[in-house]
Amino acid sequence: MFSLNRTTSKRYYEDFNLDRCVATVVKIGAGYVELDATVAYPEGGGQDADHGVIVLQNGVEIRFIHAKKMYGDHLTIADFPDIQVGGVVEHIVHPDDIGHLANVRVGDPVEVRINRLRRAQLSLSHTACHLLLIGVQQIRPDAAAWILGCHIRTDAARLDFAVDERIATEEIREIEDIANAFVLRASDVRVYPHAIHPDARYWECEGNVIPCGGTHLDNTRLIGRLEIRRKSMGAGKERLSCSFNDATFATDVFHP
Ligand SMILES: [Zn+2]
Repeated sequence: MFSLNRTTSKRYYEDFNLDRCVATVVKIGAGYVELDATVAYPEGGGQDADHGVIVLQNGVEIRFIHAKKMYGDHLTIADFPDIQVGGVVEHIVHPDDIGHLANVRVGDPVEVRINRLRRAQLSLSHTACHLLLIGVQQIRPDAAAWILGCHIRTDAARLDFAVDERIATEEIREIEDIANAFVLRASDVRVYPHAIHPDARYWECEGNVIPCGGTHLDNTRLIGRLEIRRKSMGAGKERLSCSFNDATFATDVFHP
């Protein structure tokens, strides 16, 4: 696979609550900007990307509406899902701001800032998604062993499972109770890197460990009441979604 000899420094892995950082322009592409460092989490592991602005030295703000990780290297670690590590992050520029790219040069110093509310929503949604999975691991370990996909959005998160037997309504209530108990206990969440590579990461809560490179809350309390719904996706496939209608999105945890 094609691989670059440069990487974007992933400042979000140093601190999930960093909302901005200084950076240098590395490449200007058709509708995107690559920087040597970023706080913007690129779409990955089912989690939607951060949005934000790249601020030029003259104060002009270039909005980005997507962030994409490109050209990572494949890494295989025992007892860990195969992942892409390293790589660069492309900030996809809002169509109305593409004209500003004519004034940007490689080597220019900039500041990249993320939309804090969106990040707070995605981190909460992702943390909730893990609580849903822990519930499924306890009530339907057969389903939890065959995850087909996941999507973490600002307003909800979902997991798709391969199953021989559908997930019954009573089982969904039990899964929901397990997830909500984590919220009521206001449990601390910890994320940490694998010894082999800093991009291979774990999420941990009350001793439950899940390999995951996404962004998360540091405590379950802000999620509020979780509601879990099931959708049949046809033979052998089930989707469980969670929504969180009384969540608190803490934008005051962010700092420069
Ligand atoms: Zn995660």
